[in-house]
Amino acid sequence: MQIYDLIIIGAGPAGITASVYSARKKLNFLVISLDIGGQAAWSGDIENYTGYQFITGPELAQKFHEHMRKYDTPLKENEEVLELKRLNGVFLVRTNKSDYNSRSVIIASGKRSKELGVPGEKEFKNRGLTYCATCDGPLFASKDVAVIGGGNSALDAALQLVKIAKQVNIVNKTSALGGDAIMRQKVEGAANVAVFNDSQVISVTGDKFVSAIKIKDNTGVKNLSVQGIFVEIGLIPNSAFAGEVEKNNKGEIKINLRNETSIPGVFAAGDVTDVPEKQIIIAAGEGSKAALSVFRYLAINKF
Ligand SMILES: Cc1cc2nc3c(=O)[nH]c(=O)nc-3n(C[C@H](O)[C@H](O)[C@H](O)COP(=O)(O)OP(=O)(O)OC[C@H]3O[C@@H](n4cnc5c(N)ncnc54)[C@H](O)[C@@H]3O)c2cc1C
Repeated sequence: MQIYDLIIIGAGPAGITASVYSARKKLNFLVISLDIGGQAAWSGDIENYTGYQFITGPELAQKFHEHMRKYDTPLKENEEVLELKRLNGVFLVRTNKSDYNSRSVIIASGKRSKELGVPGEKEFKNRGLTYCATCDGPLFASKDVAVIGGGNSALDAALQLVKIAKQVNIVNKTSALGGDAIMRQKVEGAANVAVFNDSQVISVTGDKFVSAIKIKDNTGVKNLSVQGIFVEIGLIPNSAFAGEVEKNNKGEIKINLRNETSIPGVFAAGDVTDVPEKQIIIAAGEGSKAALSVFRYLAINKF
């Protein structure tokens, strides 16, 4: 079986940037990813990626993709890594389709949406209930929708939906919306937004598609009639496949300044790590650092 110098897991901002640096260092590497662009492709308007005063998430993801493709990067797309382990001095990366061997690995698998865990969520997933406003928002033109959550992801979703939906109901379990002040002001200033603070979703109901959610606040239980539900209650790291690698209590992979994990030869970058801030520009920078650290590791540890 072929042994690569490096396998990069994930093709979001961190993985794609690691791939560009690896290609320029002429490493023999492979990228394995479920999708291209990661969370960057889900965001609506991006106004904080240097060099672009304004760009949408899908447009930036497309630019990242083109940059990666410029180097004819070997890519296994729509493939999910299920296990990473050491075997006979090399790393075995097992996916849902095949096994691959490598001398080093960069884990850049980012985060995924948290689920509500209430009755009706699973039944109505993709039948009115979704975790991605950018992907599915346009399906809810002139409809009443609910956004669940009160942080930046929820505000981002609400800001996209105010332009599309008839009414946007934000269901937030704390006493006030969080997130960035600038986004909060835009949301609170929109004419078609209602905010339900101190409220928790109890269940999702409907027939073939979502027709309502039940929410509970300190006055009791009420029914909100909606045709769309956008769950934006936070994210969890995609790190379960890396069983041997040390993580913090949130499941984020612990790294040092050189993006080294607890296992020599395994590096990590971006949102899947314990780096404090989760942003596109930070993930991209971390991806480049990880690739340069791999290059140094391979040069020192001659195989
Ligand atoms: C709604 C929303 C809006 C945002 N807006 C902004 C913004 O305006 N500005 C900003 O700077 N940041 C924003 N962010 C944050 C930013 O998108 C993330 O910080 C950034 O995308 C993290 O990059 P990453 O490469 O580490 O991980 P991700 O973007 O999460 O990419 C992870 C990659 O790994 C792949 N993957 C996951 N698990 C596996 C597996 N088991 N096997 C194979 N592949 C796998 C995924 O398919 C994906 O390609 C936003 C995030 C969200 C959710």
